Amino acid sequence: MVFTLAERTGIAQNLLVLCGLQSEHWNEPFVISSLLSARLDPRAPSGCFGAILIDEDDLARIHLSMKGPSPHINRRLAHELAHLALKLAGFESGHDEGETDAIAANLMIPPAGMRWAIRRFGYNLDAICEYFYGVPTEWILRRLAEVGEVLVLAHWLYHGHYAFGPEDLAGLDPQGCAKALREVFVGQRMFGVKSWEGDRGDGQWRAVIVERDALPMLFARKVG
Ligand SMILES: [Zn+2]
Repeated sequence: MVFTLAERTGIAQNLLVLCGLQSEHWNEPFVISSLLSARLDPRAPSGCFGAILIDEDDLARIHLSMKGPSPHINRRLAHELAHLALKLAGFESGHDEGETDAIAANLMIPPAGMRWAIRRFGYNLDAICEYFYGVPTEWILRRLAEVGEVLVLAHWLYHGHYAFGPEDLAGLDPQGCAKALREVFVGQRMFGVKSWEGDRGDGQWRAVIVERDALPMLFARKVG
């Protein structure tokens, strides 16, 4: 099932309201799970990094691998919490994993938080990433696109090309963006750009932001 951005926000907000975190700029998934009295178990089932079991009283037991840097661990836990948010919103099972990730990104960075960060820092990715410490870089880019009305074209190893953007661009074909992305990164179209390079524990990223016309465009690439 594919949700609109407003529906994802609503599903995430419902869970945050339960914890009293609905006004925070960004959320630590460990704080969310603690406020929900979820039981964490560091033994993940073999072959996967996380799983969630929810009993009839909506109490959750979350199995979570604690291996890897904190953005990876946060990502796993937020993903499982997004499954819980979906269940509480009435979607029992069979959740789309990509949609669950999108809701998880919304749990960690609610709309007001990203709006505040853009007002405060503009499109300074160093400052934005520093502010959202612990949030996976991919999710920061996604929320920048969804909330900040920025077109984000991204590529990362093993996952291919992604395009995130304001809702009216949701149908954008990621594969169609690959050529533009390559052109930018071979330096042929480096006009009016701010470039960024960072490694936040979840890989090395390079990005440039091109500001032209009404729509800022951010080209990001995970390079290692
Ligand atoms: Zn899942």
